[in-house]
Amino acid sequence: MQRIKFPRNSTKPKLVYLDHAAATPTDPRVVKAMAPYLNANFANPSALYSSGQKTRVAIQESRQTVADILFTHPDCITFTSGGTEANNLAIFGLTNNVKAKKIHIITTAIEHHSVLNPIKELEKKGVKVTYLPVDSQGQIQVKDVIASIRPETILISVMYANNEIGTINLIAEIGRELLKYRQKNTPRLRSGQAQFPYFHIDACQAAGTLELHTERLHVDLMTINGSKIYGPKGTGLLFVRPGVPIEPIIFGGGQEQGMRSGTENVPGIIGLTKALELVQKDSTRENARKIKLRDYFWFEIKKKIPEVFLNGPELGEERLSNNLNICFTGLEAETLVLYLDAYGISVATGSACATESTDASHVLTACGLTTDEAKSSVRFTLGKSTTKQDIDYVLKFLPEIVAGVREMMKNK
Ligand SMILES: *Cc1c(COP(=O)(O)O)cnc(C)c1O
Repeated sequence: MQRIKFPRNSTKPKLVYLDHAAATPTDPRVVKAMAPYLNANFANPSALYSSGQKTRVAIQESRQTVADILFTHPDCITFTSGGTEANNLAIFGLTNNVKAKKIHIITTAIEHHSVLNPIKELEKKGVKVTYLPVDSQGQIQVKDVIASIRPETILISVMYANNEIGTINLIAEIGRELLKYRQKNTPRLRSGQAQFPYFHIDACQAAGTLELHTERLHVDLMTINGSKIYGPKGTGLLFVRPGVPIEPIIFGGGQEQGMRSGTENVPGIIGLTKALELVQKDSTRENARKIKLRDYFWFEIKKKIPEVFLNGPELGEERLSNNLNICFTGLEAETLVLYLDAYGISVATGSACATESTDASHVLTACGLTTDEAKSSVRFTLGKSTTKQDIDYVLKFLPEIVAGVREMMKNK
């Protein structure tokens, strides 16, 4: 253990945050937009007096802004307490409302737990589920999706981009094939009209960088959250295409057009909207910048550190611009993460979003990694404040730390 030199106490380690897939810092412009709604404009949006009207109008304006970005109508947007609630609303909200005896759902092996666990609950109650396998890069095959559809399939839930390995799924292509499938069964169906099986995407990891045009993507339900796009935590939304029979899962005062009761999180809604506007506006430029930085980072790691391999897709179109997931063979990722932390470097093992971290990542094992390989893998996710200096700082210490941790593991 003595082999690894810690930075001297006198020189406080630089802070390099490389875990943007877990949480992003709130953009100062978002904080500024929210501030009035934490202070003067606190009134309940359901109140009749003018200050209540003011907060109600602010919510309406936010809903319109989001609708414009998603190329839809404001009535199709329901604000929630985050991505988890939006995913639960999509899955339970639809399933609870379908009275058929036999129900089938299609999803993938590498979804976020906020999709997998609601579906597991339904499985306990007799719902049948197909978990589509992924290839070594974390991709599902479009033809597998269509081939898995049964007469009783009500929902197809596929994540837009994966939080661990950054795989971008071919959502528009799945959407187009699904439309063709439906049109074959219902010849007079028009594009944009909802019909079983409904198509849900979890876009939490995608909202900061990819297109969210619900018509071009041909999706019926879409989840977005604030905490991954430089917005406030505890905010999110579900897009629901008109005609998709979603019923609420939270009952009470009937806010959010009856879809989600509870006093609206006004500052949160304002913040989420502002964050979405900002990331979408900057996405092309930011993606190009991050790709350059990330590719440099990976090629330098490969040059400096032996026996490393990249998990997930090649560094190209099918991978999120900010994601690197690397297997450092022969070491325990958790130990590496702790040593990096001592140097002020924040990175994640497997899925940081799950509280129990002892199991090997379900995403990496689905891609064909062994348990050992999965447990030797670390995720680096860049953000808009990440600089070349940050990457160079990590590159300065990483080879030595990896060598030290590997040595330590050998002697254990
Ligand atoms: C973070 C995340 C969620 C959960 O969102 P919360 O706002 O934390 O509830 C869901 N899906 C994906 C892909 C995520 O990355």
